[in-house]
Amino acid sequence: MTFDLPIAAAARTSGADRIINGRTGVSPGIAGRYGWAWEKYLAACANHWMPQEISMAADIALWHDPHGLTQDERLIIKRNLGFFATADSLAANNIVLGTYRHITSAQCRQYLLRQAFEEALHTHAYQYVVESLGLDEGEIFNMYNEVPSIHEKAAFLLPFIETLTDRSFRTGTPQDDQRLLRSLIAFACIMEGLFFYVGFVQVLSFGRRNKMVGAAEQYQYILRDESMHLNFGIDLINQIKLENPQLWTAEFRADLGGLLRKAVELECRYAFDTMPRGVLGLNAAMFTDYLRYIANRRCAQIGLGALYEEAGNPFPWLSEQIDLKKEKNFFETRVTEYQTGGSLEWD
Ligand code: FE
Repeated sequence: MTFDLPIAAAARTSGADRIINGRTGVSPGIAGRYGWAWEKYLAACANHWMPQEISMAADIALWHDPHGLTQDERLIIKRNLGFFATADSLAANNIVLGTYRHITSAQCRQYLLRQAFEEALHTHAYQYVVESLGLDEGEIFNMYNEVPSIHEKAAFLLPFIETLTDRSFRTGTPQDDQRLLRSLIAFACIMEGLFFYVGFVQVLSFGRRNKMVGAAEQYQYILRDESMHLNFGIDLINQIKLENPQLWTAEFRADLGGLLRKAVELECRYAFDTMPRGVLGLNAAMFTDYLRYIANRRCAQIGLGALYEEAGNPFPWLSEQIDLKKEKNFFETRVTEYQTGGSLEWD
C-alpha cells in the first residue's frame, strides 16, 4: 500500500515521485522509482560494523611507549580525532535536522536513515579511540575552537548546514531549490568528499607502517561508509539536476567552482597544520596535488568541468583500503556475518 503524507511542498507537484518538491510515499523498496537508493541502503546494511569489535590493544601499548611515536605522529592522531569528531556530528545534524526534511523520495529517506546511524557509529569510533588511548577529551573535542584550520573548515560548512536545518527554509522556488542543491553539494562533494581525505590518508598511512593499527582499521571502516555516503550524495545531486535542469545555470556552476576552489585551499591549510614536517612518508605538498585531483574528480561526478590542470593522484593505494570483506579477522568469530558480499566502488 502506498499513500501520500502531506509535507510542506506537497502541493507544488501532481504527486509524482520526485526527489524534491514531491509527496513522500511510505512504500520504499527496490521496485520504486529510486531503486538505486534502496540498493545503497541494502549495501550499507550489509557493511554493518561496530567500533568496539576492533581491538585497540596494540595502539594503547604503542601510545604509552615513550619511544613508540614521534611528537609529529601524536599530533596527527590528535588533530585527526579533533576534526573528525566535530565533522561527523555536523554530518549527523545535517541529515537528521536538515536533508531528510527536504528530500521527498521514500527510498532516499530510507538510505538517509541508515546514513545517520553510520554517522553515529563514526562519532562512537572516535570516542572509543580517545577513551582507549586515555586522551584528554576536553582537548580533543574542543579542537575545532582552538586549531584555526579545523575551525575554518567547520565555519566554511556551517552556512550550508544552516540552510538545510533552518526550520523556516522551504524548497519550491528556483532560488530555494538552488540553495538546497548548493548545500547538498557542499555536504557531499566538499565535506564528505574532500575535507575527510587528508585525514583518511594520514591515519591509514599509520596502518600501512604497522602503527596505530586499531585506529587505522576503524578509519578503514569509516572510509568505506563515507565512500558510500559520497556516492549516494552524487546520485542524489544528479537526480535533482535531471528533474530540475533549470537550476543548473552558468552562474550557479561558476559559484560551485568557486566553492570547490576555496575548499581545496582550506584543506591544504589543514594538511600543513596537521603535518608541519614530513612524516610517515607523507608531506603537505603531496596533498596539494591530491586535493586538486580529488576536486577535479568531484567536478566530473556532478557534471562540472575540471578546475585544475595536471593534478595527479599520489596515493593510488588508498583505493585498495576500501575493499574490506567479511573474512576480515574480527568477523571470523561472529555467528552472524554482516557483510553479504559485493565490493564497493571507490575512486
Ligand atoms: Fe558521512
